[in-house]
Amino acid sequence: MNNKNDITKIEKALKNKKQKIAAMLAPSFVSEFKYPQIISQLRKLGFNNLVELTFGAKMINREYHKILEKSNSLVIASVCPGIVESIKNNPELKSYNKNIIPVNSPMIATAKICKKIYPKHKICFISPCHFKKIEAQNCECVDYVIDYNQLKQLFTKYNIKPSKEKDQFDKLYNDYTKIYPLSGGLSKTAHLKGILKKDQTKTIDRWKDVEKFLKEYKAGKNKSIRFLDVTFCKGGCIGGPCTNQKLSIAKKKQLVLKYLKQARHEDIPESKKGLINKAKGISFRN
Ligand code: SF4
Repeated sequence: MNNKNDITKIEKALKNKKQKIAAMLAPSFVSEFKYPQIISQLRKLGFNNLVELTFGAKMINREYHKILEKSNSLVIASVCPGIVESIKNNPELKSYNKNIIPVNSPMIATAKICKKIYPKHKICFISPCHFKKIEAQNCECVDYVIDYNQLKQLFTKYNIKPSKEKDQFDKLYNDYTKIYPLSGGLSKTAHLKGILKKDQTKTIDRWKDVEKFLKEYKAGKNKSIRFLDVTFCKGGCIGGPCTNQKLSIAKKKQLVLKYLKQARHEDIPESKKGLINKAKGISFRN
């Protein structure tokens, strides 16, 4: 099988001037790399175009809204492949498969949009975890995947350091979904207030606690809950296994919130913004 995480192959592709590559960055990147310096670092490495996942997150929020508006049974978020895989592979919990919302993750949604706006590019996802690598391996719209640690190794290998150059993502800027890598980021940005009451949604980070909740739910507890916003890692994606384990979750959260604040004051040209017409005609359902 074609291994999309083969670093030698990715390095070779980055050196090939005839093939363009677009990189998609998960917004948890701010706990690992400096913004905006990371953008020129990635260009120096050979990426031709750069976007982050926030617009894809906004598009899937719209799907969540439509489904939750009509649903009466428990709906489990599918943004985290760690959760999806763990439910699928747990004999006691696999009956919950039917409750997992049939909506793409932000990675797949953004990759679909990238394939539309950059039809000739290869698409590479820069990831905070191994589960996303498996997800990328199994989808057609992502061609390569590399994690934060591997990216740091490439920067060291080619001596690419953060510089003072000012740069911006090329397209698909979106601000408020920049909190997606924080636990609860999905339910805070999906405008659910009008359709669900406070006691109908529950946010849980860390698989052990999600597992406990699902077992208790099966036994008849917490039946008022209609939407579970869940992530495998403590703190959300900022706690991913390929993120800097020396930084506390609280510090990483601060960095994400600082990035959100900074983004709100950035002067982004209209052509670079994530506007709904850029995703026209794309289905974000599984
Ligand atoms: S919560 Fe963890 S396992 Fe899930 S997508 Fe984020 S980093 Fe990956």
